[in-house]
Amino acid sequence: MEKVFDSKLLTSILSKSSLKDYSNIRIGDKASYLFMPQSISDLSSIIVKANKADLEILPVGGASNILFGNVGDRVLILDRDLPMYYNIKENEVIVTSNHNISIFIDEMKKHNLGGLEFLAGIPAHIGGAVYMNAGAFGKNISDYIKWVEIVNVNGKREILTHDEISFSYRKTSINGFIIYVSFGLDQKPKNKISAEIKDIISKRHSRHPYDYPSLGSTFKNPENNYAGKLIEECDLKGTRIGDAEISSKHGNFIINKGNATFDDVMSLIELMKNEVYKKKGIKLELEIKVIN
Ligand SMILES: Cc1cc2nc3c(=O)[nH]c(=O)nc-3n(C[C@H](O)[C@H](O)[C@H](O)COP(=O)(O)OP(=O)(O)OC[C@H]3O[C@@H](n4cnc5c(N)ncnc54)[C@H](O)[C@@H]3O)c2cc1C
Repeated sequence: MEKVFDSKLLTSILSKSSLKDYSNIRIGDKASYLFMPQSISDLSSIIVKANKADLEILPVGGASNILFGNVGDRVLILDRDLPMYYNIKENEVIVTSNHNISIFIDEMKKHNLGGLEFLAGIPAHIGGAVYMNAGAFGKNISDYIKWVEIVNVNGKREILTHDEISFSYRKTSINGFIIYVSFGLDQKPKNKISAEIKDIISKRHSRHPYDYPSLGSTFKNPENNYAGKLIEECDLKGTRIGDAEISSKHGNFIINKGNATFDDVMSLIELMKNEVYKKKGIKLELEIKVIN
């Protein structure tokens, strides 16, 4: 390890915690390289050194879409200790990627700026939501992005305009660690934004299991269909392996009922995929990122 990262970097920002402490579904073991840089220059140094040593880099935001298995010698970089900042000029907001999206939506409301309300209630950070092109209720975060600033694999800062990024269903072409995002938001009265947030959160709570840790939708929706509906039609809701359970509220959510393990969740995923293929002839594609 010392050969890759110098001792200053290691002692100041290498976390000894278990990934479980950061994972939204509360699953994960210790990682050899789990960094929490406090400056963009530390972030760049880590990326350059990891790249030179040919180690895979994994940016981590809210960890609300990552299932951690054996992460091996991947270099995990958490955004939470990086500086936090936002700046508003008319309806353009430049914001650091480590803001929690729901807190950011509330903060923008104070300035009568809205648009992202459809994402209210998601435990994501802005960087993860942008990388995943998070969406809901027929809208995607990409609709509001003007540009994104990344630290690329060579440790250099680079601006990618909206048109230079390819956005698709829960996927983008971004290759690097997102540090800033510029959004073009809508001028909207506070009370209208508040009403929309309330409505979205109430819809989420009525449809999704918020009482146990999860990673949101396990699978992408197949074209003209819904993964949750297919799983429900295969009578899988409520199925439990160890402490992992297919939510009885929403078939596409796997919840952790206590001490679920990576293997418990993977066994459920295999079961869901196999049953849906056997009974419906449809191959489900993972939306969550499995790191193993
Ligand atoms: C209760 C619940 C509800 C959810 N509802 C929705 C929903 O309605 N719509 C939706 O789209 N998703 C939803 N999700 C899933 C999840 O919140 C989103 O995928 C979100 O975009 C992930 O953000 P994150 O910060 O947690 O990313 P992480 O889980 O930390 O990472 C996800 C991916 O993004 C990459 N990444 C993270 N940060 C950066 C960065 N700074 N730079 C580059 N890459 C980065 C990671 O490497 C990883 O590949 C839900 C999840 C939960 C638990």
